[in-house]
Amino acid sequence: MKGRMKRLACSAALLALLTAAPGIGFAASYTVQPNDSLWLIGSKYGVTAGQLKALNSLTTDELTIGQTLQVPNPPEYASVKVQQNDTLWKIAQRYNVPLAKLINANPQISNPNNIWMGLEIRIPKKPDNYLTGVFPLAKGSYTPFTNTYADSRTWSPDGAAARSHEGVDIFADKGTPVYSALGGTIVKAAWNEYGGWRVTVRVDESTEFYYAHLSKYATGIKEGVTVTAGQLIGYVGSTGYGPEGTEGKFLPHLHFGIYKRTPVYAAIDPFLYLKWWE
Ligand SMILES: [Zn+2]
Repeated sequence: MKGRMKRLACSAALLALLTAAPGIGFAASYTVQPNDSLWLIGSKYGVTAGQLKALNSLTTDELTIGQTLQVPNPPEYASVKVQQNDTLWKIAQRYNVPLAKLINANPQISNPNNIWMGLEIRIPKKPDNYLTGVFPLAKGSYTPFTNTYADSRTWSPDGAAARSHEGVDIFADKGTPVYSALGGTIVKAAWNEYGGWRVTVRVDESTEFYYAHLSKYATGIKEGVTVTAGQLIGYVGSTGYGPEGTEGKFLPHLHFGIYKRTPVYAAIDPFLYLKWWE
């Protein structure tokens, strides 16, 4: 129920954003690339193909290369205006983000040495900690992901009411390698009715990272073992949603979650962490 409420609130916020005056809350416009689709572009900016279509008053799903689209500011970025005499280096200093990350966040700027006062640019939002983490999947091995934390999920062992999704799903082919985002100790490497073959790594006294739906574990991955950041822990699969061995109830993906152990064991939103590592 909680998840559903949150989702509704999110939709309302999005609707407000989409109906706001043009220019408010929008990133610089997006130029359509070869092989782009409304779905692909939407997934980069956290909106559906339908919302992107409505936002741009499009009458067809077909896009032309070079076409300009208006896109919302993705949730992992803050939008700011360039001040007088600013350089990207100065802005990187001001917001305490690495210059390379700032440049990556603004692909619409063709020459990073040429920015001007009033230009709207995106600043990557920084997670609270774990800044040195490694993204759990290799570049190019997964499809763009959006924040699915707190979405409504209906499966449960006893068929109970909807629950809140406790992580972010990243879709990739079965067998895609999964790497540990941080070093730590494996506290669980066994079947879980929800997560199937899952690995839980305690990264510090208060926090555990959770990797679920794996098709299999990497060699040597078991409870009590220490892993390092970037170490191979297993492979993407579609296990879970039933008794041991259940698979194929959904498309293969990595479900990544972060749990705080105190004051009660509870999930937190891992999205900004994933985006920062990516
Ligand atoms: Zn999931």
